[in-house]
Amino acid sequence: MSANSIIPIKKERELYIEWYPTDFCNFHCSYCSFAGNFNRIRYQKNYDIVKNNFFELFNFYKKNYNIERITLRLCGGGEPTLWPFFYNFCKTLKESYNYISLELVSNGSRTINWWNKHYWLLDQIYLSFHSEYTDIQHYKRVLDFLYEKNVKAECLLMMDTENWNYCLQNFYNLIDSRYPWMIHVKSLRSTSFYNPNKHTKEQIDFLKQSLKRLPESEKIIDRLEDFQIYKSLYFDAAEDKHFLMKQNDLEGISFKNWHCDILKSRLKIDAIGKVSGNCYNGFLDLNLFSDKFASKLKHQNIDNFKCPSFECSNCHNHHVAKRQS
Ligand code: SF4
Ligand code: SF4
Repeated sequence: MSANSIIPIKKERELYIEWYPTDFCNFHCSYCSFAGNFNRIRYQKNYDIVKNNFFELFNFYKKNYNIERITLRLCGGGEPTLWPFFYNFCKTLKESYNYISLELVSNGSRTINWWNKHYWLLDQIYLSFHSEYTDIQHYKRVLDFLYEKNVKAECLLMMDTENWNYCLQNFYNLIDSRYPWMIHVKSLRSTSFYNPNKHTKEQIDFLKQSLKRLPESEKIIDRLEDFQIYKSLYFDAAEDKHFLMKQNDLEGISFKNWHCDILKSRLKIDAIGKVSGNCYNGFLDLNLFSDKFASKLKHQNIDNFKCPSFECSNCHNHHVAKRQS
C-alpha cells in the first residue's frame, strides 16, 4: 500500500482525552507497568487547578477546532476511582458541558454502594479483570448491577499468558453470568513483560478473536460505531485515487515527518499532568497542573505538528488524519 494522506471517516468533530488522575492502585498486578509507583500516591492536590485547566482546555478546543463532542476517559493504570476528587469532578463536568461523555476504566473493586452513587455520571464503563487480585463474585455483582441500571459497561479480561489456566477458568466463570454484558479478552503479550514467542497454539487461537460475547441486539446498535471496519480513506497520489482503509492497514507504515492531526483530536494526560497526543508524541512542555497552562496552549503547536516517530503506536486502532509534508 502506498499512501500520501490518511482521511478519517467521522460524523462529528470529537476531542478524545485519556486522563490518568492518579497512578496509585489497590491491586499490585505483577504485569503492571505502574509497578514502580506502588509506594507513592500521586495526584494533584490542588483540585481547582485541575478543574480550571480542564475548562481552559475544553474552551480552547471548542473555540479553535469547533469541537462538537468531548469524550473524557478516566483511565486505569492507577485506579481512577481512588482519586479523591472523582465525584466532584465528574459531577461538575456533567453539569457544565452538555456535549461531554465520561468513560471510566476501573478494576471494579469498589463496593456496590460506591457504584450506586456514581453510575449515573458515567456514559461507558470498562471493568478490567485481573486474575491475581479480582474477587470474581464481587466483580460479577458489579457488572450485573450496572446492567440493571442500563449503563454501558463491559468486561475486559486480562489473559496473563504466564497464568493461563487460571485466567481461562475465570473466563468460563464470567461467561456463566446472570446478564450477558460484553466480554473482551486482552493478551498481555503487547507488554515488554512477555515474549510473544512463548505463546502456545491454544493461546494464539483463543486470542485471535478478542470479542468473546456480544450484548443483546438492541445494545449492539449503540455500539455499531465501535465495530466499524473502515475507519479511514487513504489517498494514493501515484494512482490519483482514494481507497478504503481496512482495520490493520496502517500497521508498519512510518509517518515520520508527516503532518499529523493527533493533537487536534486525541490527547493523553498522565498522573503528573503531562499533556501529549495519545501516542505519547506532541507538546514539549504542556502541563495541566501548571498555572501557565492556558498561556502555553497554542494552536500553532497543534496545527504545525509533525510526527517524530518511525513507528505509530496509535494509528493501528485509531485513524487520525495526516499527510505527507
Ligand atoms: S489493576 Fe491495573 S493499575 Fe492496578 S495494579 Fe493491576 S494492572 Fe496495574
Ligand atoms: S505516532 Fe503519533 S504523531 Fe506519529 S503518526 Fe502516529 S499518531 Fe501521528
